[in-house]
This record gives sequence, structure tokens and C-alpha cells, in this order.
Amino acid sequence: MLAKATISLVDSLRQRIANHGPISVYDYMQACLADPASGYYIARQPIGKSGDFITAPEISQIFGELLGLWAVNVWQSMGEPDNIVLAELGPGRGTLMADALRAIKSVPQLHKRISIALIETSPILREAQADALGNFDVGWFDAIEEVPDAPLILLANEFLDALPVRQYIRRSGGWHERCVGIDQGAFAYVESDQASGLDLPAELADDDDAIFETRPSVANLIAALAARTKPVAALFIDYGHERSGFGDTLQAVRGHGFADPLEAPGEADLSAHVDFADLARRARAAGLKSFGPMPQGEFLLKLGLEMRRDRLLQAANPEQRQTIVTGTDRLTDRRVMGELFKVLAITSSTLPPPPPFPEAN
Ligand code: SAH
Repeated sequence: MLAKATISLVDSLRQRIANHGPISVYDYMQACLADPASGYYIARQPIGKSGDFITAPEISQIFGELLGLWAVNVWQSMGEPDNIVLAELGPGRGTLMADALRAIKSVPQLHKRISIALIETSPILREAQADALGNFDVGWFDAIEEVPDAPLILLANEFLDALPVRQYIRRSGGWHERCVGIDQGAFAYVESDQASGLDLPAELADDDDAIFETRPSVANLIAALAARTKPVAALFIDYGHERSGFGDTLQAVRGHGFADPLEAPGEADLSAHVDFADLARRARAAGLKSFGPMPQGEFLLKLGLEMRRDRLLQAANPEQRQTIVTGTDRLTDRRVMGELFKVLAITSSTLPPPPPFPEAN
């Protein structure tokens, strides 16, 4: 039997567009990131110095450790349930979870009871996670809906930004979906002729040429959290905006630099800003509580980053000291990740505010 010929993602996208016309930005992003044969997250290990980008847990171990201590506090506020699940959406190389579990070790009653659930689509990253977590009892899932209905603490760092967005562009009073077609042999943005019927939140103005982005899977994610019958507390950390607004935020990152999102499908990381206001609004509409968003720098400092840093510094040699200080500065400084990255917590209505949030909004 002949092996099925494999065609490149570029060729399959070209064929698809030639056969059926332009595809939405959503379908383009979905194919680039998650195409089963050659999607960006399916086919490679993108995180770290040798990859395309670096994330907070890879910059400093303190990031995951503080989230571990956050989980301890939330578990206590749930009444210290026996069958607690600590889950992570898009755990990358597993570094955050490994650091969190090390911090949780200081509370043996929790450490010995906790079940770990990792929601990850990439087979390559699942392997890296298994390596990072050693012989810890870990379950892998394709979607949050599959995670058993027990009390749940959920962490998600730079997960939402990787979920595909739809883009709409305002043209003489209507919103038209932005698509990817072919122009002079190259991928190019085009617009759907038909108005989409998009209904925008009332407080948003809408000028011609404005671009508005929606992220359809956020609704499913919130619905899945709201459908759980046991308490849930989730922490979303990502880059994005506090208020819903206009603008094209689709970006490509390759080899630690920005690239053109249409240039090399499947070979660059594609992401778009998270609309935290939309996330919070949907959570509240589903009967959950939302907290924040709070800038990442403020969040980490309030959770005790400096104390933890100083303790690590005491035991460090000069080279390690440099790495620790540069890393924590990068996470908290507003000129780097301290302000662009934000933290939003979502909990069941029965839970008190998780630290360090003063109250629900
Ligand atoms: N949280 C990690 C990695 C961020 S990169 C860190 O901070 O280092 C995004 C992660 O989400 C990767 O692990 C990627 O494989 C995963 N991912 C992307 N889309 C996903 C989806 N739809 N479902 C589950 N995991 C997904």
C-alpha cells in the first residue's frame, strides 16, 4: 500500500483556499497552531532558549513556587477537601507544575492527597511534562471538560493567548469577518463581503476600519467551569488588556523575535491579546466570581516574591545571584512583564477572595 503523501501546511492551506475561498483568521490560526500533522504546538517544543519564546516559569522558579503556595491557600479556603485536583491548562514543559509541587511539599496533608491533571494537546510537550514531573501521579486530558468533577484548583499561564481569535473589521456600519486568502501568490488578509451580524458590548464605540477580536473557546471554558458541582478556583495569567477594545493584536513570534503572522504558517507561534474584561464578564454571567485583573508584578510582589527571592539569594553563588535577580526583575518590572501580563482569578460563588485579591468585582 502506498503511504499517504504528506503535504506541507503551506500547501494544504493554499489548496484549501483555492478550493473553498479565503478562510477566517480563526481557521488560519487554528490550522497553524493545531493542525494534527504540522501545527506549531503539535510538531515542536517551542519554549526556552533553543525555542521561539520564553515564559515566566522558565524565567524564575519563584513563579511556580508562589502559585503553589497560592494553591495551598485556596485549598484551605475550600475546607481542605481530600480529593483535590490541581490542574493546569497548557503546561508547556511542566516547569510551573514542578515548582508549584515543590512549594506544596511544605504542606504534606495536601501534597500526599493532590491529583495532578494536565490539559495538553501536544504529544511532544506531554513527554516533557512527564519528564519534569518524574513519578508524580499525573493524568493528561485533551480538554477541561474531561477532568473529574472534584474540588478543582486550575492554573493557566500563557494558555488563553494561544487559543484562536476571530477578527472583524468595521466597514460602513457593519462588521465583516477578516479572512486569509491569496494575493499575488502570497497569503494576504481579505474581508468577507457579508456583514457578520456581530453584536458588540454597548459601551464600545465602533468607528470604520476598527478591528474587533473575539475568542470563541473562552465561552466553552467558562461554561465548563460553571458546570462543575464542586468548588473551583482558577488563575489565568496572560498578556492582554483590562478593557475590551479595538485593534489587531494577532502576533507571530519566531526565534525570540516578532514575525509576520502570514509568512511561515506552522513555524511561528501565533497568539493574540487576552480580553480580560470579556473573561470576567462571562464568568460573572455564568454565576462565578471574578477577581482582578491585577498586573503580574503587583500580584507576585503581594504573594511574597521578595521574601522568597531573598531566601534563594542567601544560598546562591554570584552567578546564581545574578540569574535570580534578573529573573525576578523581568517578571515584576513594568517595562518588561510586570504590567502587560495580568492575573485574573475566577472562583465558585461560595469561595472567599483568593490571595492577594481584596474582593470580587
Ligand atoms: N504554560 C506554559 C506554556 C505556555 S505555551 C508556560 O508558561 O511555559 C501554550 C501551551 O498551551 C503549550 O503547552 C501548548 O501545547 C498548549 N496548548 C495550546 N493550545 C491548546 C489547547 N487547545 N488545548 C490544550 N493545550 C493547548
